[in-house]
Amino acid sequence: MNILTQCCGLALMFLMLFFYMSKRRLRLLSESSFLHVFFVTFICVILDMLSVISIENMGAWNQNFITVISRLYLVSLTLVAMFGFLYVLRELYPQFKIYIYHAKYVIALVSIADIGILIAPIHFYYNPDTAALYSYGPATNLTYAVALVIILMTYSTSVIKSSKLTTRKIHSIQAWMTIWMAAAIVQFFNNEYLIVSFASVVGILILYLHFENPEFNLDHITGMFNQNAYYLATNELYNYEIDFSIISVIFDIRFEGNIQEEGKDILMSEMARYFFLLPGVSVFKITDQQVLLLSKNRENASNSLQILNDTFDSSLSKYDDTILYTKFIFIPNARIVSSGKELLNLVQYVRVTNIGLFKNRFYEVDELDAHKMRNEEFMEHELEDAMAADRVVVYFQPIYSTALGRYTSAEALVRVYDRKGNLLPPDSFIHTAESNGMILHLGEIVFEKVCKFIHDENPAKYGLEYIEVNLSIVQCVYKNLATNYIRIMKKYDVDPRFINLEITESASLRGRDTLIKNMETLIEYGVSFSLDDFGTGQSNLNYIVDFPFAIVKFDKDMTYSYFVSNKAKYIMDTAMRMIKGLGLEIVSEGVETAEQFIALKNMDIGHIQGYYLSKPIPKYEFLRFIQEHNA
Ligand code: C2E
Ligand code: MG
Ligand code: MG
Repeated sequence: MNILTQCCGLALMFLMLFFYMSKRRLRLLSESSFLHVFFVTFICVILDMLSVISIENMGAWNQNFITVISRLYLVSLTLVAMFGFLYVLRELYPQFKIYIYHAKYVIALVSIADIGILIAPIHFYYNPDTAALYSYGPATNLTYAVALVIILMTYSTSVIKSSKLTTRKIHSIQAWMTIWMAAAIVQFFNNEYLIVSFASVVGILILYLHFENPEFNLDHITGMFNQNAYYLATNELYNYEIDFSIISVIFDIRFEGNIQEEGKDILMSEMARYFFLLPGVSVFKITDQQVLLLSKNRENASNSLQILNDTFDSSLSKYDDTILYTKFIFIPNARIVSSGKELLNLVQYVRVTNIGLFKNRFYEVDELDAHKMRNEEFMEHELEDAMAADRVVVYFQPIYSTALGRYTSAEALVRVYDRKGNLLPPDSFIHTAESNGMILHLGEIVFEKVCKFIHDENPAKYGLEYIEVNLSIVQCVYKNLATNYIRIMKKYDVDPRFINLEITESASLRGRDTLIKNMETLIEYGVSFSLDDFGTGQSNLNYIVDFPFAIVKFDKDMTYSYFVSNKAKYIMDTAMRMIKGLGLEIVSEGVETAEQFIALKNMDIGHIQGYYLSKPIPKYEFLRFIQEHNA
């Protein structure tokens, strides 16, 4: 009768163990702290049963044996309490050194107490009529005292350090401790109720059901580890400064038939089984399009990559009526960043910024990529701040008309002040703003400032005919661009003929229809367009033919090469004749010397812009400049 509760406890533990072991596990170091509590509790329950049986056989069995077993049982109780406390400490202090620093006090306390328990007097009571039995005396009292102290320590730690634990975890720890303490109090006052070890099993069950069930870390469909598991694993690796490598496998699954979702699951599961065969690799499903393979051994990771590459040897593999495109991003040293989140960001960063990846399907990430990403993140914050604090300003660079012999326009160029008041050039943030979409907001800020300037200062009175404003290709393919810009022009009562929008040609133009639609709407309203940076790497004459541009801007590199290379000279002459033949205007950018200026003027290039005439300058300086020179 007396060991019935212990039997139940033991059965529960076997059941938990079975489920625990039958699941794929992360095998984290932090998992071991749960396993410690588990196995100490297991031993505690066994010793509890043994001591009950031996006390029942007090008359028949060797007295020393009974004493040793009972003392060991008491010692195991203090160990359960101690490992419970360590479990909480492990949660609080993921860094091993700090963990050990805090843990050593409780380990010392329990060690000293256990020596006491092993040598202090102990007595036994057994009444065969009522079947009541228990141990008592100084050794037993010492056990209760130590367990009580540690339970209170655990409880109070969970309260004091609550900010570092999730509410769910705090509640579970507190429930565990409360059950345990209640059982201890009941048993202390009613020695014959032997429920303490069973109570600790219930505590373990609470932890298991809430946190330690390996199933929480699995993706149910594919059996791969899930994103939650990824964060647990990488947190630990970074906290313990363990080197590891990752391979990000990126899929693009297309269906020729109409199976869609279900087909995707089947395919994913099939691939999962394949990944599981790679030796020494943990497999994480991050999204439907991305699986991460993690290995603590770089060579292992390289080999896996080789195997993968051979298997998916074409980016276009066919599984029945499903087409699978795969790309691999290999990060041999994942510690070039400092957290799991940053690692995923790095993969994402490489994925969107590296056009080469799409060609070769493979990219190896190094320190420089991480550095670039951090720079971008830094810029992102700077820009966000600057936009919120109105630290965005517009400079104007005058543009000279060779036909009229005066300044007829200007290019508006964005500038941003950082927190320390330094001026950031656009090259340092435009790219970032384009890749994270902030350019939509930034572009509107610039455009609004230009419109306000035109409204407030009426630069037409100094002979200015229009102002050129840069548009990013990201803005061009944004469907509300035209509506928003027209709204802003109306707000400041700006004549649309005073606005010229510059677009840089882009090799990989997606959303061409939206671009054309935006252009048409704005042109109909009265705005004109320039093709910027003509003559740079992506030059494509089709652009001039296909899109309704009014002006072509020769890039400064082209202007420069005109004066140093005959080939460039020939190309520029031809392009010039052709563009003029189409009835478009030309602006030559980046004119830096008198010689260039005179030559271009003689060539009948309509407009000239460059440092030779003026650098981009703040608005009032610009107004003074125009007033002076156009007088
Ligand atoms: P961009 O549109 O081609 O602008 C001309 C760039 O050449 C400006 O650089 C200007 O300062 C520079 N420049 C002008 N004359 C000379 C010269 O004689 N020599 C040399 N070496 N450079 C000259 P900035 O202001 O640094 O702007 C760089 C780029 O940033 C711009 O190239 C444009 O693509 C982009 N950008 C500037 N403002 C905006 C904006 O408001 N929106 C968007 N989307 N992009 C902008
Ligand atoms: Mg421009
Ligand atoms: Mg340009």
